[in-house]
Amino acid sequence: MQYYSLHKKAPKVSFSEAVVRGLAPDKGLYFPETITPLPDSFFENIENSDKVEIGYQTIKQFVGNEIPEADLKEILKDVLSFDFPVVDITENIGTLELFHGPTMAFKDVGARFMARCLGYFNRNNENKVTVLVATSGDTGGAVAQGFLGVKGVDVVILYPSGKVSDIQERQLTTLGQNITALEVDGVFDDCQDMVKKAFLDHSITDHMQLTSANSINIARWLPQLFYFVFAYKQLKTKGKEIVFSVPSGNFGNICAGIVANKLGLPVKHFVASTNVNDTVVRFMETEKYEPKASKATISNAMDVGNPSNFIRIQQLFDNNFTSLKDQFSAFSFDDDSTKEAMKEIYEKSNYIADPHGAVGYLGLKNYDLKNDEYGVFLETAHPVKFLDIVEDTLDLSVEIPPQIQKVMGKEKVSIKTNDYSKLKEFLLS
Ligand SMILES: *Cc1c(COP(=O)(O)O)cnc(C)c1O
Repeated sequence: MQYYSLHKKAPKVSFSEAVVRGLAPDKGLYFPETITPLPDSFFENIENSDKVEIGYQTIKQFVGNEIPEADLKEILKDVLSFDFPVVDITENIGTLELFHGPTMAFKDVGARFMARCLGYFNRNNENKVTVLVATSGDTGGAVAQGFLGVKGVDVVILYPSGKVSDIQERQLTTLGQNITALEVDGVFDDCQDMVKKAFLDHSITDHMQLTSANSINIARWLPQLFYFVFAYKQLKTKGKEIVFSVPSGNFGNICAGIVANKLGLPVKHFVASTNVNDTVVRFMETEKYEPKASKATISNAMDVGNPSNFIRIQQLFDNNFTSLKDQFSAFSFDDDSTKEAMKEIYEKSNYIADPHGAVGYLGLKNYDLKNDEYGVFLETAHPVKFLDIVEDTLDLSVEIPPQIQKVMGKEKVSIKTNDYSKLKEFLLS
């Protein structure tokens, strides 16, 4: 399998090269040259496939021959070592819980898959890389945990001092080994700017292979398509058409869902649910893409003003607005409605949703499900990750799960950083 840059001004590359580079040299996102549907029999007999088999069958064409079947299955077994249950909320709505991984964020699967692929490519110490990532909260923890102890990969995470939750900070700063946390005196955008600057700085990139670990990287983006297939396997016997609502920020997760659909997964419609950061919602109304600076909300993992993966979604529909509109809708909700939705879900079904999941639920309500449809909203984080908002809104206390308890007592270790020269000094030291 070859990948091309969506800016079309860079050479085509293999899977491993696209993973190691992250972004193409012309700054375009990599995109698979072909997407070949799986045989109908795969979906017809899905109940006979376990998670690893589903993972293997759906990802193998994207990995190509660079990781042999046995090794790829080993990687998948390790990556998919927890559950992805669909829980009924009402008669025609369920939630796909994606938070049963080690950091309780859905990004665990992508981060772990990418880490193990890089580890595989570096098995003979030939391809040492440094993963450089800025986080506003959840990405950093999933990346840190996913890459912990992976041979030949150093991870440097920049986070804004005092702007991430206590739990999130501990998930980033207590692991040690090949993970370093740089605590930046500034906001998320400052961290992001420093990372971008480093990628363009030849005095750094001439000495080391830097890569990113956000959803622009194909190895973080593509394995997210498994979720949609796992949900289908559980829902098939209901005999209804499935509508997915995906709480969206950078639109990587929903874009992976659309890839699953291109592989032949039966899906009636995709709903992208966003907070007030509504660039895509406005695009679907006006056909004009006008990014804006992001606004802070209670569903802060989706505070993105210029979603990087939307260009991939348009490509999946051959940049045809009519066919996009046919299968894809986008709706935006403010914080007050999100809190109301959290209350409604709790009162109706005794289910505690986090703010991101609640936005997904609102998307399904807005879509207006028909009788023969079943709506699934993705629950992208455990409510404990947004403890204060959940406890205040629902007036209850959330039990702290063991994964989180484990980091609570650990000592934070970070390097204080206030400008780019500090980052550079650290990378080159
Ligand atoms: C990252 C994240 C999202 C947004 O996912 P995208 O793939 O960027 O659209 C939603 N919810 C949570 C909890 C997240 O961490």
